[in-house]
Amino acid sequence: MKPFQYAAPRTVDSAVSLAADQGRFLAGGIDILGEMKDYIASPRLLVNVKDLPVTREITPGKESWTIGTNVTISEIEQHAELKRIFPGLQQAAAEVGSPQIRNVATVGGNLAQHSRCWYYRHRDIHCLKKGGDTCYAHDGENKYHSLFSGNPCISPVVSNLAIALAALDARAIVRRGREEVALSIADLYAKAWENPEAHNSLTGTDLILRVQIPDAGRRSAYQQVSEKASFDWALVSCAAAATVEGTKLSKVRVVLGAVAPIPWQVQAAHDFLEGKKLDDDVATQAAGIILKDATPREHNGYKVPIAQALIRRTLKQLVG
Ligand SMILES: Cc1cc2nc3c(=O)[nH]c(=O)nc-3n(C[C@H](O)[C@H](O)[C@H](O)COP(=O)(O)OP(=O)(O)OC[C@H]3O[C@@H](n4cnc5c(N)ncnc54)[C@H](O)[C@@H]3O)c2cc1C
Ligand code: SF4
Repeated sequence: MKPFQYAAPRTVDSAVSLAADQGRFLAGGIDILGEMKDYIASPRLLVNVKDLPVTREITPGKESWTIGTNVTISEIEQHAELKRIFPGLQQAAAEVGSPQIRNVATVGGNLAQHSRCWYYRHRDIHCLKKGGDTCYAHDGENKYHSLFSGNPCISPVVSNLAIALAALDARAIVRRGREEVALSIADLYAKAWENPEAHNSLTGTDLILRVQIPDAGRRSAYQQVSEKASFDWALVSCAAAATVEGTKLSKVRVVLGAVAPIPWQVQAAHDFLEGKKLDDDVATQAAGIILKDATPREHNGYKVPIAQALIRRTLKQLVG
C-alpha cells in the first residue's frame, strides 16, 4: 500500500471538495482498502464518509422507504419490517459475503464497489479497465464474466444490493456538484455499459447519500447461485418484484446480476409478463426473452442454464 493522507470531514460539502484532489471516499473500507493493499488504487487522500451528517437510518415514509448510505448490510438483513415489506432486498443483503463483511460493509460502498475481474485485481496487469488497450478476459479466464456487454470490458456488476434495488425501482440520491440528483439504479450503472473504464456512472466526487425505495405494495424475491456457501460473490443472481393477485403478475421487474456490467433487465420480458398468470411455461418463456441476446464466452456458458433456473425460481417465489 502506498502512503496516503486521511481526512474525516464533518460536512458533505467538505467531503466532496476533499475528494476532488485525488481523493477516494472511505466507508466500511472492505473494497477500497483491498484495492489499495493490492496497488490497484493509490489515492492521495482517503475521505472517511462514515461520520458525515447524512442519515444512517432505515426510515419508513408514506410512499417510500429511505435507507442511509452508511447503513450496514447487516442492518438491512436484520430489519424485521424491511424484511416483511421488501423480502427480496433482505434476501440479497443476507447473501453478501459473510457476517463479518455484512457488519462492516455499507449500502453506498456496496453499490460503488469496483470490478472483481481477476485481471483487474492483479497489480501488474494493465487491462482496458485500468486504461490499457486489452481485455485479457476475452480470450483468457472468463469463467466469472458477463454474458452481455455494451463495450469490450466483460466484467459484471457484482453488488447484490444493486440487483434487488433495481427490481424495486429504487433511486440513489447522489450529491453531484452542488446538487442532489436522483438516479435510477439503471442510471447509476449506465456508464459501465458504454465505457470499459467505468465501474458505474459515479464521478470521483459523486457521493451517494441514501437510497429511496417506493413502497408500492409489490412482492419481491431474490435468489443467487455461488460456488461457496459464504465468503463469495454470486455466479448469477436474480431479483424480481411484482404486484401479485393469485398467480397474476403486474408491474413486473426481473433483474439478473453477475451477467452484465449493469443490472440486466429486459423491457420486453416485463411487457410479456404483464397481466400473465405465472406458470412454468410463462416463467420459461420470460427467461428465454431475458437471455435471448446472451453471448457466452469460452468458460462462462454454464451461466445461461443457471440464469434460466434462477429466473423461473425467483418468479415462482413471488407467487408461492
Ligand atoms: C470475500 C468477499 C465476499 C464478498 N461477497 C459479496 C457478495 O456476495 N455480494 C456483494 O454485493 N458484495 C460482496 N462483497 C463486496 C462487499 O460487499 C463490498 O466490498 C462492500 O459492500 C463495500 O462496502 P464498504 O462500505 O466496505 O465500501 P468501501 O470499501 O469503503 O468503498 C467501496 C467503494 O465505494 C466508494 N464509496 C463508499 N461510500 C460511498 C458513497 N457514499 N458514495 C460514493 N462512493 C462511495 C469508495 O470510494 C470505494 O470506491 C464481498 C467482499 C469480500 C471481501
Ligand atoms: S473484463 Fe474488464 S476488468 Fe477484466 S480484463 Fe477485461 S477489461 Fe479488464
